Amino acid sequence: MDLAKMDALIGSWKPEIFEKLNGWIAINSIKGEPSGDDAPFGPEVRRMLDLFLRDAEDMGFVVDDVDGYAGAAEMGAGDKTMGILVHLDIVPAGDGWTQDPFTGTLREGKYYGRGAQDDKGPAIAALYAMRAVKEAGIPLKHKVRLIAGCDEETGMSDMAYYRKVRPPVDYGFSPDAEYPLINIEKGGLGLLLSKACGGEEGAQIPVYSLNAGTRPNIVPGTATAELGTGGMGFSSLEKAVQAIEKAHPGYDLKLTDLGNGRAQLLATGKQSHAAMPELGLNAAGMLLTALKELNAGGGVGEAIRGLAKLLGTDYTGAGLGIAQADELSGPLTCNLGILRFDGRFLSAQLDIRYPLCADEADMCGRAAMALSPWQLALTRLSGHPPLHVPAESEVVRGLLQVYGELTGLPAYAMAIGGGTYARTMPNTVAFGICFPGDTDTCHMPDEYIEVDKFMLSIRIMAHAIVRLAGA
Ligand SMILES: [Zn+2]
Repeated sequence: MDLAKMDALIGSWKPEIFEKLNGWIAINSIKGEPSGDDAPFGPEVRRMLDLFLRDAEDMGFVVDDVDGYAGAAEMGAGDKTMGILVHLDIVPAGDGWTQDPFTGTLREGKYYGRGAQDDKGPAIAALYAMRAVKEAGIPLKHKVRLIAGCDEETGMSDMAYYRKVRPPVDYGFSPDAEYPLINIEKGGLGLLLSKACGGEEGAQIPVYSLNAGTRPNIVPGTATAELGTGGMGFSSLEKAVQAIEKAHPGYDLKLTDLGNGRAQLLATGKQSHAAMPELGLNAAGMLLTALKELNAGGGVGEAIRGLAKLLGTDYTGAGLGIAQADELSGPLTCNLGILRFDGRFLSAQLDIRYPLCADEADMCGRAAMALSPWQLALTRLSGHPPLHVPAESEVVRGLLQVYGELTGLPAYAMAIGGGTYARTMPNTVAFGICFPGDTDTCHMPDEYIEVDKFMLSIRIMAHAIVRLAGA
């Protein structure tokens, strides 16, 4: 087998690869309104998919347009299929760029552009890795199928559709996360807790509104309540708030006089990702705890006390009776990501990430029991099972071996809170392309890849194809 030839080919294509990538980066492929039967995610995503299919066809691969939801490039034959999962949609460029996000730019060993890292760079890397295997004449025992999804960033509906109309791959990897390799992802469960209730009637401190968070998967860094100063007046209320702040180390509470007997209570915690709530401090939980101790809220007071007691700033799920952990995947995390009350209706959204040992129906049952004394209704909003590809499986061992050999770095499998693209296919793990210690610029301004590491990633992918699918 001519692995040296394969590596040499990849090296020789370097200028061409970045030229191609420029064309891909130039397309602002964020999700848009559907436009016609073959563009479920809008014209720009469709344009990106067409470019992918054309480039893949030019390289001699068999291409497949999955009704605009995804595209595929395939080579080889055999009864099994190795999958490589990438995506062509991007998140909005956003502010803070020091250059045009849609003009791919090489500068001091780095290549900048929206999608460079997530996930157009890895997609083009996989395409050239396949081409290198093909042109080096390396025989394969399995098919290799590069699947490029078009809706990874907003719900992964692309792969849900794909799974309906095409058979799944047998095994594979997705270069849409980090090295060395992620073989375990916690399961996900989105819950809505709600109650119809008022906030004024009969209350010494009425609650008119509550607001925290914008997305369930973020630990809210701030939370606000609009209160009535009621019978006690602003300064007594402020003293009571200060006493609560003192009693809870780490709490940051600020009361502002809004006039007309109203005040705003602001709780400031620390924002973090819901998969790593230990890095944050939940401001919504802090606010609820403060309101409970103030005994605030008329009809809504009961729900506030319930949420403060069951959740507060805790993220283990203990209050709901669902705290659990296992050795492979770690502890369950439960994030109160969104809290709303408009004077009539209270809602709280939870982002729960659960270990392999947990059972969804069991968790829902326990949570419903814990909530019932507070008359909080429970609705399941979303859910997906955990990902687990055993460490001793061929795909994990093969990929780690290749990674270790080509980088000289420690090669080990990791468990994370989730959820990468890998979980949309069986026996598929997240593999690259961020290296340990790299700055992760995905979804950030000035998104970039390091050129040398990127070229190394193409070689890693090519060697991975040979190791797992080679004859
Ligand atoms: Zn991605």
